[in-house]
Formats: sequence, C-alpha cells, structure tokens
Amino acid sequence: MSGLVGVFCVKQNREFRPRIEELKLMELMETNFTGCPICQTNVETVRNSIFGILYEMVNDPGIRAQFRKKRLCYKHAYLLVQVLEESRFLGHLGISIILKDIVDHVRFPRPVKRIKERSRSFKCYFCELEDDANRRHVSIFANMMSHSAIGKMYMDSTSILCIV
Ligand SMILES: [Zn+2]
Ligand SMILES: [Zn+2]
Repeated sequence: MSGLVGVFCVKQNREFRPRIEELKLMELMETNFTGCPICQTNVETVRNSIFGILYEMVNDPGIRAQFRKKRLCYKHAYLLVQVLEESRFLGHLGISIILKDIVDHVRFPRPVKRIKERSRSFKCYFCELEDDANRRHVSIFANMMSHSAIGKMYMDSTSILCIV
C-alpha cells in the first residue's frame, strides 16, 4: 500500500487528497508499473467484480439475468478462470451454476451470418463493466493531471498511457 495520503500541489497551492481510485492510479505510477495505469485499474475493477459475484452474488436474480442476456466473452471467461485459480476457496459450484444457467438459455441453432455479426459487436456483462470503468478512469486521470505534482509523478514514472 502506498504511503501517499495527500500530495501538495504548488501550482494550485492546495493539497491533492486522492480518493480510492485515484490512489490506485497513483500507486501504480509510484511503484514503477510499466504498463498503462488506466488499463490496469480497469482490469482490477473487473477482477474485483468477478470475485464479488462468485463470492456472494451467484444466486442474485439480477446478475443471473444479465449473464443470460449478455453471456461471457472469451477474454472475460479467461479472467474469471484466473480469479478462480487465485482464490481456490471460491470452489467451482458458483461458476457451474452461472454457466449452466447461460447454456440453458442459449437458443440453437443460430444462422452462421448472425453469429459472425454478433461476434464483431459482442460485449459481455464484463465488457460493459470494463467500458464504464475505462470512461470513469480516463476522466479521473485527466482530472488528476491538472494537479502539477501528479503530472510530475506520471512524467517521472515508468507508466505510460495507451490512450491519447
Ligand atoms: Zn490503457
Ligand atoms: Zn467481455
């Protein structure tokens, strides 16, 4: 955990007191994370959501309805498996229930053309969550950069944004 509580910003003559998501972005920059801090924070948001769902929301009717409707893309199914491997105490019952529920509600057969069209624009429940997180984190990061001390922290770090 970072020792950062607040950073004094000379230009604005006030202290920048980071909130949780700002603190996460600052921690990545401080610890010389070599990737994109926004993308990393987005992935952490999805990872935390996956954990929360598997831990205590498997039988939530709203979540089940979302998975039936939006299913899982390959990328987020893979991330889900990673979370399960990292937190083995979650077991496999929760994910089995979710996947069976999805499969039970898939309508077959589908015309090939429609599957191709769907795969191009397909966004699963976690894709949408990640998109929302990205919009929020880009906005938070842009706001953080208006503080000169934080801007300097970014310039001095090994982190680099993938979004211009
Ligand atoms: Zn990025
Ligand atoms: Zn997805």
